[in-house]
Amino acid sequence: MDAISSHLHQVLDSLPGGVRLVAVSKYHPKESILSAYSEGQRLFGESHVQELQVKHEQLPADIQWHFIGHLQTNKVKYIVPYISMIEAVDSMKLLREIDRQAARCGRVVDVLLELHIAEEETKYGLTLDDCRQLLADGEWRTLSHVRICGLMMMASYVEDEEQIRQEMTMAADFFDEVKAAYFADVDYFCERSWGMSHDYPIACQCRSTLVRVGTTIFGERVY
Ligand SMILES: *Cc1c(COP(=O)(O)O)cnc(C)c1O
Repeated sequence: MDAISSHLHQVLDSLPGGVRLVAVSKYHPKESILSAYSEGQRLFGESHVQELQVKHEQLPADIQWHFIGHLQTNKVKYIVPYISMIEAVDSMKLLREIDRQAARCGRVVDVLLELHIAEEETKYGLTLDDCRQLLADGEWRTLSHVRICGLMMMASYVEDEEQIRQEMTMAADFFDEVKAAYFADVDYFCERSWGMSHDYPIACQCRSTLVRVGTTIFGERVY
């Protein structure tokens, strides 16, 4: 077994039931993805459209790709035909464009709303109030080619485990609020995507259902 396969299994073995792994393969070559694929991993995360396009064309068709990066509206059309989930939707404008492109290919595309809870200024995402506003506004209900399946966030990149735990707990509590207010009667609103290489064990304790782990499995990225 190669290093990637053994790291993959270490991560998988540590996940509680109900938590799925998004193997984040951005900047890693297709050989690395195939190592994980040969061990049964089918869910991969990428954050650059052009890179994803190439990998999607060259790799097995039964891979489920999650787009986890910031997506520009003008690039939505390239990934909508095959993407399994777009995780980081943080504006009505982006949601509308996904809906429009999905309608053109006769698909319903699963998305998550990205929350901004971390301290860092540079990160994308909706504040809790922005997210409340977007949902209260109700336009999303008219978009029949997107399905909002849950929430995604990145905790602050800090050593302080308590801070990470607090931010993830805030996201989990907010999930409950939104679920009760808008999605109580639909099973598909069930995803909580948080946890990366340095904090996924904490995420598993904070009700994550999708952890997005790259470096721990594939090694350091070479940019
Ligand atoms: C790169 C990336 C990850 C994975 O980060 P690692 O530290 O390599 O595990 C997770 N989520 C998002 C949004 C990313 O861009």
